Amino acid sequence: MQQHSPATPATPATPAALPVRYVEVVAVRRTSPRMVRVTFGGDALAGFRLDGPDQQVKLYFPRQGQRAPRLPGPPADGDVMRWYQAFHAIPEDERPWARSYTVRAHHPRHDTIDIDFVLHGTGTAGGPATRWARTAAPGDVLGMFGPSAYFARPVPLGTADWMLLAGDETALPAIGTLAEWLPEGARAVAYVEVADAAEEQVFDTRGDLTVHWLHRGPGAAGPGELLVRAVRAARFPAGSVFAWLAGEAGAVRALRRHLVGDRGLDKRDIEFTGYWRRALSQDDAPTEEDLAEARERLADAQ
Ligand SMILES: Cc1cc2nc3c(=O)[nH]c(=O)nc-3n(C[C@H](O)[C@H](O)[C@H](O)COP(=O)(O)OP(=O)(O)OC[C@H]3O[C@@H](n4cnc5c(N)ncnc54)[C@H](O)[C@@H]3O)c2cc1C
Repeated sequence: MQQHSPATPATPATPAALPVRYVEVVAVRRTSPRMVRVTFGGDALAGFRLDGPDQQVKLYFPRQGQRAPRLPGPPADGDVMRWYQAFHAIPEDERPWARSYTVRAHHPRHDTIDIDFVLHGTGTAGGPATRWARTAAPGDVLGMFGPSAYFARPVPLGTADWMLLAGDETALPAIGTLAEWLPEGARAVAYVEVADAAEEQVFDTRGDLTVHWLHRGPGAAGPGELLVRAVRAARFPAGSVFAWLAGEAGAVRALRRHLVGDRGLDKRDIEFTGYWRRALSQDDAPTEEDLAEARERLADAQ
């Protein structure tokens, strides 16, 4: 594990009022062949709070030649839309890449947080976030927006008789936090699709958690296919269920359709997020299906 003391003087001042800050890498560790844990610190994380599991943030990655990503200063009134407008006004070749990640852990004694990055693709493949994570080193600086009520949808833990968790390796950080926040004895069954046994993780939990690991293996089916097949074939425990789904967007959609259409779950008992899209980056425009889903989410929230 590489170590480094946080907050060099060269770290830019952090915009205030909005939950936007610069965070600096203090340690990097390979937790498995395809996962890197990056620990971030810096003065801006003093007083950081994590109010629950499954907390997402937007990370901003510097463009070539930048030490830190270029971010707008805070609008005087703290208005988030104004901040986003200023962000989009940055010329495209200088505007940071923005990608969503999950805060895997918060260490209040050290004012640090961990974020786990899946290294998808090989060599120089993968998008900007993955390329950054492959070579991340102490002293590197990213921008971070959140955690924030703008994205948060608190997951009801321990309210249904059991909880279904289904996802791929990108969902492991969130599943890890959900496992850690499960109330004593709360039942949960997880289906997690990963490349192979080397990507499996051990979760700390007070709950009664069973994890089914699904190994894609070499020359395997497309992402999420094993996951969808396993959940379809699963014999569910009796009683009410709350489902939490994340991973490749097509697989998440198929799972949700199955739970609603074949298993009769109420849509309100399913929290689902397409974390990534086959052959599309997070910069690409939403597809018709993405927009339909977003509309449904809004309708559900009302
Ligand atoms: C709320 C939320 C939380 C998330 N939390 C995490 C997290 O904690 N850890 C984590 O690693 N990821 C997480 N993700 C997923 C992550 O944001 C995406 O995988 C993201 O696309 C990676 O950015 P990139 O720059 O590497 O690739 P992009 O530039 O977005 O995409 C480049 C290419 O890579 C492909 N691609 C993207 N992701 C994958 C993948 N996982 N496997 C195979 N191909 C892929 C795309 O289809 C595209 O062709 C989260 C996503 C969301 C929405």
